Amino acid sequence: MTILEIIEAKKRGRELTAAEIAFVVNGFTAGAFADYQMSAFLMAVWFRGMSGEETAELTGAMLRSGEELDTSVLSLPSADKHSTGGVGDKVSLLLAPLAAACGLMVPMLSGRGLGHTGGTLDKLEAIPGYRIHMDNSEFLGLVEKVGCAIIGQSGSIAPADGRIYAMRDVTGTVDCVPLITASIMSKKLAAGPQTIIIDLKTGSGAFMDDLNRARELAAALVAVGKLYGRRMSVVFSDMDQPLGSAVGHANETIEALAALRPTGRGTAPADLVALTEDLVAEMVRVAGLEPDRDQALARVREAWDKGRAFAVMQDWVAAQGGRIDADQGDFGLEVAPLAQELEAPHDSWLAKVNCRQVGLALADVGGARLTVDDPLDLAAGIDFLPQVGDKLSKGDVLARVFCRDREKATAATDRILAAMTFSAEPVAPHELILGRVE
Ligand code: URA
Repeated sequence: MTILEIIEAKKRGRELTAAEIAFVVNGFTAGAFADYQMSAFLMAVWFRGMSGEETAELTGAMLRSGEELDTSVLSLPSADKHSTGGVGDKVSLLLAPLAAACGLMVPMLSGRGLGHTGGTLDKLEAIPGYRIHMDNSEFLGLVEKVGCAIIGQSGSIAPADGRIYAMRDVTGTVDCVPLITASIMSKKLAAGPQTIIIDLKTGSGAFMDDLNRARELAAALVAVGKLYGRRMSVVFSDMDQPLGSAVGHANETIEALAALRPTGRGTAPADLVALTEDLVAEMVRVAGLEPDRDQALARVREAWDKGRAFAVMQDWVAAQGGRIDADQGDFGLEVAPLAQELEAPHDSWLAKVNCRQVGLALADVGGARLTVDDPLDLAAGIDFLPQVGDKLSKGDVLARVFCRDREKATAATDRILAAMTFSAEPVAPHELILGRVE
């Protein structure tokens, strides 16, 4: 078999065999054929699609390109959550200790942000001393001891995905359900949890803005996960406005850690609380710790309100070398000084937010990367205050920009204002949770 024969076969819509798919993945990862041939293959897949079997084979070949963590050494059921990414999405920082406080073990491998979407790893680096790299046995040892740990995904996890994704990024082949499925699931399966919950975001701040396409992707993710023996559920959530108020790194981390306090369910932004407890309850239910959603939710709320999740968070951060001061409102993290506030220009209702632009406003103040090598100012951030449907009076503060440079702050506030649509008539608030598939 040759790569040319496989490209020809896919171009004509033939279903590929497991051996052919493995040939493509292994050959490309080993540098055995040219980038232009891989790009032709990816484009053929984009046009012709893949069957369920082909998608599962592609996932498997990418999974086997690297290391797999053996979570069978853990003494409690393991579970993890993957978000398809968004603006202000700090859920993982709450979810991991909450799920651990509910009786699960959460070995979480996270990535960095790019463009308008943030990454959990960058947020954790806003904590002085927090160690994001360690070997697998130390990582699993911490999970066993504390209940959760979050580290950076090393290059040894599904390395084929890194190379293939980079190729997709420059060949117009990112938006392809089988390719997205194999990319997400090869990494998640390699991390080894028995239960995988996917937070599939839709809207202007998500990489997929159409709920119908999201449903197609969800079905493919669930099918592949189940084939590999995992318990799966996909939750669709709204990403048409930032989640919570904070958008940035230090400020998002502070918002997340503060939300975990025993009083946090009543004081933190309601959308952040609602999505977090929904996802953790889903982990608890799907993992089999509770028989239904109501009982799972009750378990989550008790762990949260009784302070057990906050205690696990402190143990976890300390175990990874992080230094936080829980007696201070900002946990001792550095946030840039307030540079500028944005006020409502007139009385109105907030009708719409271009959420992607709010994420890009963070890049205006140095708090997000437009290319993988951009330096990050972890102390820069935005507090985005209103939600769609809110009634606004002229002069209400809509956003606060924290950075060290007034000119950059002005660029950010201009962008945020342009990202908002106001209405003279009342507007319905958005639904946060749009459905689920398992
Ligand atoms: N996230 C991934 O990890 N891979 C994709 O292909 C798309 C989103």
